Amino acid sequence: MIRSVCIAAVAALSIVIAGSAGHTVSAQATSAQAALTSGGPVDPALLEDLASAYRVLANQGIIDGYGHVSVRHPGNPNRYLMSRSLGPALVTPADIMEFDLDSTPIDPKGRNAVLERFIHGEIFKARPDVMVVIHSHAPSVVPFSITNVPLRPVFHMATLLGVGGGAVPVWDSRSVKEPAAAALLVRTPAMGKSLAATLGKRPVALLRGHGNVVVGPNIPVTVRQAIYTEVNAKLLLAALSLGGPVTYVSDEETAAVEKTPGDVMRGWELWKREAALAAK
Ligand SMILES: [Zn+2]
Repeated sequence: MIRSVCIAAVAALSIVIAGSAGHTVSAQATSAQAALTSGGPVDPALLEDLASAYRVLANQGIIDGYGHVSVRHPGNPNRYLMSRSLGPALVTPADIMEFDLDSTPIDPKGRNAVLERFIHGEIFKARPDVMVVIHSHAPSVVPFSITNVPLRPVFHMATLLGVGGGAVPVWDSRSVKEPAAAALLVRTPAMGKSLAATLGKRPVALLRGHGNVVVGPNIPVTVRQAIYTEVNAKLLLAALSLGGPVTYVSDEETAAVEKTPGDVMRGWELWKREAALAAK
């Protein structure tokens, strides 16, 4: 089952990488290039958790046919693990691929990698503290990326949005001066690097007219944050529709809540069960 992430080298081969939006690009890896080595065997439980993260986020409506989750390789911080290009609700451990931080597949075996994988590689490069990256197009969050209305925490389950103070930052692909930026998708290393710079040290950033990224220290915490980022956006949209000033969670309240994060596993175990039941 975990054979796919344990293979050592890539030598002379030609691969075709298909993107999440159906685009394709060709990549050549020749024997002249340094062989990429795997970070080594991975605990099957981690692969199962990663696959579960995809299915949970799909079942919760955070990701649909697209969106992806990655985890840094536990044996080598310069590698990460992420599913091949596949509908998230269908992901199993056998679909997990390994990449270096330039987002080059270690041993693709003919599988397609997602086009926006540079989001993950460049954030892992910029943020040694980050172990998990989630990219989604969660629909209630997008309005806050295309208006002047800031996304800030409005209830206790989403205080992580306020870590760093003020509003969640918004990255605009137009800030990257290269032709690929016109297509909105993060499909080059330069775009990923630019997004990582906007994210800075925070746990969440929005992508203008596109979606968001959520980063964290492990899978359950990061999945929870992705879910409550969407819930917070829904609540804030509802509050704004009522009119009048909104009382946001203050930076001081955010700091107080984050000192006592609560039982993360309670939600994680429930969401896994619900996703499994939904798949039957
Ligand atoms: Zn995207």
